[in-house]
Amino acid sequence: MRAAFDPQTVRADFPTLQREVRPGVPLVYLDSTASSLKPRQVVERLADFYLHHYANIHRGIHTLAEEATAAYEEARQKVALFLGAHEAEEIIFVRNATEAINLVAHAWARAHLRRGDLIVLTQAEHHANIVPWHILAAERGVRLAFVPVDGEGRLDLDAFHRLLAQGPRLVALTHMSNVTGVVPPVADMVRAARQAGARVLLDGAQAAPHLPLHVAALEVDFYAVSAHKMLGPSGIGALYARREVLETMQPFLGGGGMIRRVTLEGFAPAEPPARFEAGTPPIAEAVGWAAAIDYLQTLGMERLHAYEQELGAYALARLAEVPGLRLLGPTTMESRGAVFAFWLDAAHPHDVAQVLDHYGVAVRAGHHCAQPLHRHFGVPASARAGLYFYNTRADIDRLVEALGHVVRMFA
Ligand code: PLP
Repeated sequence: MRAAFDPQTVRADFPTLQREVRPGVPLVYLDSTASSLKPRQVVERLADFYLHHYANIHRGIHTLAEEATAAYEEARQKVALFLGAHEAEEIIFVRNATEAINLVAHAWARAHLRRGDLIVLTQAEHHANIVPWHILAAERGVRLAFVPVDGEGRLDLDAFHRLLAQGPRLVALTHMSNVTGVVPPVADMVRAARQAGARVLLDGAQAAPHLPLHVAALEVDFYAVSAHKMLGPSGIGALYARREVLETMQPFLGGGGMIRRVTLEGFAPAEPPARFEAGTPPIAEAVGWAAAIDYLQTLGMERLHAYEQELGAYALARLAEVPGLRLLGPTTMESRGAVFAFWLDAAHPHDVAQVLDHYGVAVRAGHHCAQPLHRHFGVPASARAGLYFYNTRADIDRLVEALGHVVRMFA
């Protein structure tokens, strides 16, 4: 068995962690839920690729074009392996998880759903998994229903099963909430949804950086991810779609790269995944993402997850000491990730974040693109500390100490 993970072995890979936000005030980065830091290995791979191997891909027959094409397609393989897909061709590179979900709405739903068809979502969704469906509902008359959540942000599974009985065509839900950290029982939910005849989309923007994944074993139809939350560059993400479903999807963006043939009368689309990658794709970003995946896999996702769960339990215990702090989410680490959104009676979340920044602690404040969930909790916004494997107990201590200053300052 491998030794337990020690964050001190990796912190030197993240130069940002050695920074001070002001002289004498070292940074504590607790905003990884919004975007993770990047290790040196990813940035160096990007620099090497741009400096020595970069060219446009697929259409060239010179050495550089061939090298760049091989690196881009190798990145697709790595993403497929990381997600646990059967084949690299089931991975479509997009800009981010938001675009991945919009791609499903455009390329699958517009071809398959009719007026009156039901889409089941949840109250815990990020706007990225709500707004595309509102747009579709307005345009095509599909119906949306939302699985409610309880006081801790966990899904009401009875309500979910009642909605399945109505025969939805699509169930789309987050694999880990970016507010409560809740990880729903997706294996059971996907099975039940498929038995009810629905296609299933999981929004993996938060789960992919933290959980070992196996999308093929889960039997989901679609899985959406962003590279920037899992050590990779911004500007790239992926949609996993099962091959059998991909074959039935219509092109979304038209242009170069996505065609087999074009005439003045019309065009014939290429096979997937090229069918959905019109124009010059994020080439270097894919290569950088592959380096991020190498980095994560060398450390081991199981091991990182175990460490984050332990760190999360420490954070929960320490946050419970802060007077007037209300956590938006479960108070144990069971079936949740290490992201902690909270409301402080003493001060508005924006003031909380500003004072924490004064003490070097970077957290996010706002609705975190989850306004319906905040409405459910009866607050307009929250402050959010999102942990990753490079965080330590000392970081949590600095957070709690700084929250103590906030409480005293606004008391
Ligand atoms: N879904 C969830 C659960 C998220 O947390 C986020 C980003 O915070 C997204 C989707 C959208 O990700 P992106 O902005 O990278 O498209």
